[in-house]
Amino acid sequence: MSSVKKLEQVYEGKAKKVFKTDSPDYYIVEYKDDATAFNGLKHGTISGKGVINNKMSNAMFALLEKNGVKTHFVEQLSDRETVVKAVKIVPLEIIIRNVAAGSFSKRYGVEEGTALKCPTLEFSLKNDELNDPLINDSHIIALGVATEKELDSIKKLAYKVNDVLKEFFAGIGVKLIDFKIEAGRLSNGEIILADEISPDTCRFWDAKTNEKLDKDRFRRDLGGVEEAYQEIFKRINSK
Ligand code: UDP
Repeated sequence: MSSVKKLEQVYEGKAKKVFKTDSPDYYIVEYKDDATAFNGLKHGTISGKGVINNKMSNAMFALLEKNGVKTHFVEQLSDRETVVKAVKIVPLEIIIRNVAAGSFSKRYGVEEGTALKCPTLEFSLKNDELNDPLINDSHIIALGVATEKELDSIKKLAYKVNDVLKEFFAGIGVKLIDFKIEAGRLSNGEIILADEISPDTCRFWDAKTNEKLDKDRFRRDLGGVEEAYQEIFKRINSK
């Protein structure tokens, strides 16, 4: 696989670049240190973030694969670069929550840190111009964003990811508050897990102190941003 050659860039997102390769079945992603929040209104750099998010995402994808979840992960090439399966991303932010926080707390007037009686699932349409609006199942199907069958696979995938990750993080003294994942379609139409799993896309609280160990430190100017990413990465590697 290391024979795959990096060709031209096809896409640059807020935290990653995606490159074509000499095979139509694979892309190479490159993780950046750039950080944005509030739909790009806040910009910054988190030194070393790209390296941590690359290695951590790959470790999480490997763990999920071991537990029967199909992901786009193929092979890590370097500190910041990974070969992934080429997919067409379903333009949805798939969000699972175990504990109220962030926009959920604001929307429903529920104090941050309130445990939810069961994990919740919600979708936002990935569209920066529209500010990623919340979208429901019937809208997703009516607009052709995904079929009913795909939506069903996406939901099963999301809850399975939650089960595996929640247990893993509990084992390293971390509460998985919520997270966002993205799904992609392979050329045969199969839905697999794509994008990344990192402190950029998950909320992690220390199980004892509730200290935030994720991007909220950047979003909310709490300080200790780099240290939080390093702490999560250190705990993952201690397992
Ligand atoms: N999230 C993300 N990208 C987004 C929006 C949210 O990765 O564009 C993640 C976020 O890190 C958190 C979860 O999804 O782990 C739920 O975020 P929420 O809806 O509470 O939004 P926020 O409060 O970050 O605006």
